[in-house]
Amino acid sequence: MADSKLQARDPKIYEALKNELQRQREGLEMIPSENFTSLAVMEAMGSVLTNKYSEGYPSHRYYGGNHFIDVVEQTAIDRAKELFKVPHANVQAYSGSPANLAVYLATCKPGDVIMGMNLTDGGHLTHGWKTSVTGQIFKSVPYHVKADGYIDIEEARKLAQENKPKLIWVGCTAYTREFPFKEFAEIADSVGAYLAADISHIAGLVVAGAHESPKDYAHVIMTTTHKTMRGPRGALIMVTEKGMRKDPELGEKINKTIFPGMQGGPHENVIAGIATALLEASTPDFREYGQQIVRNAKALASSLMANGMKLVTDGTVNHMVLIDLTPLGKGKGAFAEYALEVAGITVNKNTIPKEPASPFYPSGVRLGTPALTTRGMREQEMNQIGRIIAEACNEIKYYSMPENKEERSAYLAKFRDEAGKNPKLQALKKEVIELCAKFPLYPDLGS
Ligand SMILES: *Cc1c(COP(=O)(O)O)cnc(C)c1O
Repeated sequence: MADSKLQARDPKIYEALKNELQRQREGLEMIPSENFTSLAVMEAMGSVLTNKYSEGYPSHRYYGGNHFIDVVEQTAIDRAKELFKVPHANVQAYSGSPANLAVYLATCKPGDVIMGMNLTDGGHLTHGWKTSVTGQIFKSVPYHVKADGYIDIEEARKLAQENKPKLIWVGCTAYTREFPFKEFAEIADSVGAYLAADISHIAGLVVAGAHESPKDYAHVIMTTTHKTMRGPRGALIMVTEKGMRKDPELGEKINKTIFPGMQGGPHENVIAGIATALLEASTPDFREYGQQIVRNAKALASSLMANGMKLVTDGTVNHMVLIDLTPLGKGKGAFAEYALEVAGITVNKNTIPKEPASPFYPSGVRLGTPALTTRGMREQEMNQIGRIIAEACNEIKYYSMPENKEERSAYLAKFRDEAGKNPKLQALKKEVIELCAKFPLYPDLGS
């Protein structure tokens, strides 16, 4: 980070940034919702656009001086429409969660029945979970996965018939199979509900042709822009042709819900970064990238299973793998997450279908390949990483969470202390650092 103004002005924050860059470089980033955006996208975000107020929409602003801002936002809108083949796009939502709230408020009234995948089955908080406002201002009827890890379509159909929801969500944060858009369209259509596809995790795969698009099935599509789309933190809310047929005003309603309904001035610096990310996503290189994410996830899954790990649904067809750690004992997700962190691999603990422990101490780990694929890693590296993960998880087999809740935090602290000194995990960390050095991250940023 040469010639840094930040270093001179604010050494404390500069130091943290530098350390974070080093952490990203030296570790294997395997949280499936994370990625490495391009320096071009970062340049757009860290620009003079952050100085400007532009409440309203292109050509209809409440402030003067928006000529160039209009170019930025209209370009982002046009690129989103073209890439996802939809007639309407809103690019102003500050992130995925407010975008989803806007979808609710444009299609439902407080108290209406809504349906989404249950959180601990792989759904998102904003799909009606009890601690989210979406589960408090709407009557949430969750559907689930079956014991084999696949979505229980029959249950969803039955719940929809019984509860007549106004809005149904399809899309998850922890699911390793194709989203059944067609089946959910039949269910939504049979009860007259809106179908919203939340493709936050898989949007990059959809663009690359590695996952079916929901455009012919859903009325609304929401995606974050910072996961497989590899852009800045933000969101797109899109209305499909089908959505426009159901309600010709839907696009306008979503725009009004975002502004003035929920937000004030849009973050045009981020919208510029989204525009650039959408341009990048329309290239043949990105198509190849999306396909490689899936090939890498499949290679990782094969390697993990060959090394004795159990996977939810016995594999993957997208960018993500869910390890079921119950063969080592239940509630081991937190132990595995920490052991892997010591070995230089960032993942997150996650519930598994029919979770036998608890959401706080779940029995699985969720990991994905989008960020490693951005670094240039391929099947051969996935094969190696699968073995490293299995070896690291083997180090936790003699630990188990005390039944007595009061003993848990002390036990975990003791485990962390021991894991930090574990020679096997240290050796794995060395192997990880050597592997990462072969795939330099942001070389242009210097040291
Ligand atoms: C990440 C995600 C969101 C929320 O996005 P934030 O930007 O974190 O608010 C919503 N839905 C799904 C399915 C997601 O994966």
